[in-house]
Amino acid sequence: MEERSVREIDVRGKRVLLRVDFNVPLDVGTGSISDDHRIRASLPTIQYLVDCGAKVIICSHLGRPKGKVVEGLSLKPVAERLSRIMGLPVRMAGDCVGDEVKREARELEGGKILLLENVRFHPEEEANDPGFACSLAGLADVYVDDAFGTAHRAHASTVGVSRYLPSAAGFLMEKELDAMGNLLHDYEHPFACLIGGAKVSDKIGLLQNMLKKIDILLVGGGMAATFLRAEGYETGFSLVEKDKLNKARELLDDAHALHVSFRLPCDVLVSREIRKGSPCEVVPIESIPDDGCIVDIGPKTVELFCRKLTGCRTVMWNGPMGIYEIPEFSQGTKLMVDFISKLDAVTVVGGGSSAEIVHQMGLSEKMTHVSTGGGATLRFLEGTVLPGVEVLRKET
Ligand code: ADP
Ligand code: MG
Repeated sequence: MEERSVREIDVRGKRVLLRVDFNVPLDVGTGSISDDHRIRASLPTIQYLVDCGAKVIICSHLGRPKGKVVEGLSLKPVAERLSRIMGLPVRMAGDCVGDEVKREARELEGGKILLLENVRFHPEEEANDPGFACSLAGLADVYVDDAFGTAHRAHASTVGVSRYLPSAAGFLMEKELDAMGNLLHDYEHPFACLIGGAKVSDKIGLLQNMLKKIDILLVGGGMAATFLRAEGYETGFSLVEKDKLNKARELLDDAHALHVSFRLPCDVLVSREIRKGSPCEVVPIESIPDDGCIVDIGPKTVELFCRKLTGCRTVMWNGPMGIYEIPEFSQGTKLMVDFISKLDAVTVVGGGSSAEIVHQMGLSEKMTHVSTGGGATLRFLEGTVLPGVEVLRKET
């Protein structure tokens, strides 16, 4: 089933409500934007609408204000950044609904941009309240959705508004659906997934779905501890999800039955404490000390994983191999990312932390696709039809 594209609807001179995912990371101390990739990712759609002479009314959420006005989560800095990047004025609205905003939207000229204030300042957004959705829709003639990163949420600005306006996907949404869709339906073998991150529980659905497609599964990160324990290894004080041990065993069995080569680390970096500068050592998985915690994969594992990825035609990576926020524990992740970036393969990166690492390493251009979605990417790869995508389909 196909989503309607922004190219297929007439936006010339129209008021367009554009939902984007400008949920950018903010610097804890200063509140300034620490990574503007999510803003840049929607530029093609915004520029297209501007070039078409549309009246561009942009809306987004930022952080989790939980239905209240939180000054630190205003989109004002985003308006400034967007304006700077585009070299165009971006008008910042004081709210996203109400008479004042209605007037601003009505008076907006063709080719001009108005950014609405954080939609999550209103509890009705996350409740997908029809009245609120109708008010948002009332600002515009058509709805364009570029917020892939929020498409797993059925909120007023991602799903509700589409009931009231002709709806279409923006270019970022299309690019994400294309790249991620290929991982589910149109991929070349050998196909490998490298999965890490903190917890198995976040990724069970993804693993179950991808096992049916892939040839190789490599698991590192915190979640490897649960699998290692399921295989009978001692894992010190590493985070083990005891209630997921059966599930982990089941996944190992499923992989076996489906002839997927499922590899866990063979050596790991363990530390007595999870802090910068704490003493750590590389140990084989057979000798993880009682007072040690797995904080990264070891060099033999990096070698093993790289060997397994060599010759693969499709590689999906999600989740760091270690507690990469602490530089001493980031080596395994960095070596794997660097290796993947050099492969002659379709390489797709999903997940908030994973994308951030690729951007920090300056390797985004070396990957086939770096998704802007975190939770949305995981849900998508589970095989779920995202509610924010469903409403863009031509039949609806
Ligand atoms: P992504 O955002 O890319 O999907 P996740 O959210 O699943 O990734 O995982 C990121 C988190 O996993 C990071 O905060 C990282 O510190 C944590 N992590 C990775 N390895 C370990 C480990 N061995 N022990 C504890 N946490 C880990
Ligand atoms: Mg994450």
